[in-house]
Amino acid sequence: MRLSAASSSPVSDHVPAASRSPLHAGLAAELGDRHRQRTLYELGDHPLLERQRQRESNARSYPRRLPLALSRAQGVYVEDVEGRVFLDCLAGAGTLALGHNHPAVTDALMRTLHSGLPLHTLDITTPVKDRFMQDVLGTLPATFARHARIQFCGPTGADAVEAALKLVRLATGRSTVLAFQGAYHGMTQGALTLMGNLGPKAALGGNLSGVQFLPYPYSYRCPFGLGGDAGVAASLAYMDNLLSDPESGVPRPAAIIVEPVQGEGGMIPAPVAWLQGLRGLATRHEVPLILDEVQTGFGRTGRMFAFEHAGIEPDVVVLSKAVGGGLPMSLVVYHERFDTWRPGAHAGTFRGNQLAMAAGSATLAVLRAERLDVAAAELGARLQQQLAAYAERFACIGEVRGRGLMLGVELVDAAAVPDAVGARPAHPALAARVQRECLRRGLIVELGGRHGCVVRFLPPLTITAAQVDEVARIFGQALAAASA
Ligand code: PLP
Repeated sequence: MRLSAASSSPVSDHVPAASRSPLHAGLAAELGDRHRQRTLYELGDHPLLERQRQRESNARSYPRRLPLALSRAQGVYVEDVEGRVFLDCLAGAGTLALGHNHPAVTDALMRTLHSGLPLHTLDITTPVKDRFMQDVLGTLPATFARHARIQFCGPTGADAVEAALKLVRLATGRSTVLAFQGAYHGMTQGALTLMGNLGPKAALGGNLSGVQFLPYPYSYRCPFGLGGDAGVAASLAYMDNLLSDPESGVPRPAAIIVEPVQGEGGMIPAPVAWLQGLRGLATRHEVPLILDEVQTGFGRTGRMFAFEHAGIEPDVVVLSKAVGGGLPMSLVVYHERFDTWRPGAHAGTFRGNQLAMAAGSATLAVLRAERLDVAAAELGARLQQQLAAYAERFACIGEVRGRGLMLGVELVDAAAVPDAVGARPAHPALAARVQRECLRRGLIVELGGRHGCVVRFLPPLTITAAQVDEVARIFGQALAAASA
């Protein structure tokens, strides 16, 4: 097993603001106590789940692996209708930076609801929107924010990706895009075209043309068969050549779009040197760089934005998930030189969700005041160390990796022969068993990555050190049970 990189640092036990609100603190304490007293849960049968199976689309996904009907939640805990309490390390796929029902968010929502503000304004401005735009720009590096423009989208991450593509195509007059193997940018037709995973798109046919996929720096399964620094250097040389060679067969693209840490693709952090190299070659070849920070944004990786680890800046950044404080919201923020599209070039009815803006502003204020980016770095290192320690006992752990509180454990077939870079084949059945054993022990985790073999940890950034230790302890028990 290899452990890749979050540096360790002393951990302070973070005290979330939720504990200062008696109502929320009371519920958090109650759910925490009940979680400690839990027994091994039996899962899967409840009339709500049965009705969901009968009524909801076959495309439903999470309930198949997480068969839960939820009733209450506070902080990192959720409770189901049968009174069972779970530690939630999925947190709305990383959306709930402050956890469930944070008092700052619920207070902001209540205040907005009682203020008489129109809840829906298309893209007409309001004091809440004005504040929100200022708050978003305030979280971005000043050098970028000074020349930035914001496009409100409608209101999913995928729609913001669609908008970003249109923006750069119109601004550059070019049509093709470079994307990366393993990428996830959403499920609408354009975003899907940028997706590495063939599963959801192969059967559709008719994907947009003009997307060229490049290898992502996934060291454990290095596409160049090299790994580490040699893999990074090969990848940068390959891309530079592709953009320089007049006979590469690839026209100069409208953009390169990249996740600084691939989330759905398996919690793969792009090395800092690779991100710096990518930024450099995008500039040299005059290709706009779109950073998709939908999952990594707002403290998750230990910095406010994952690109800050590399000291680089985007031309265009795509934001969603945490920016709406748990409510639907997505934005494209870009340098003003790309602002060449015509009025109405991108629209969407639900761009004016005032509650999401109020919740988003409240979330950003807590993130900044409580330095949750620093907490994510410290607590992520603490969790990563404990997960990595299991690799000494469990040969089925291929790699533990990630940044901040965006961590993954890749599960492999321990009995198989490793390949030339030391990677063993993925073990999807084991990963599914581990996820289920976690759930039976009161821990919600999701799977991702190639063949769904990476256990993904995306807890709220307000998780405490004691809760991190409990997550690691349950995961160890689940590994033991699933490997027995
Ligand atoms: N981009 C990234 C990096 C994501 O992780 C996601 C969703 O997980 C999206 C885009 C799409 O966001 P949405 O599901 O809101 O459309």
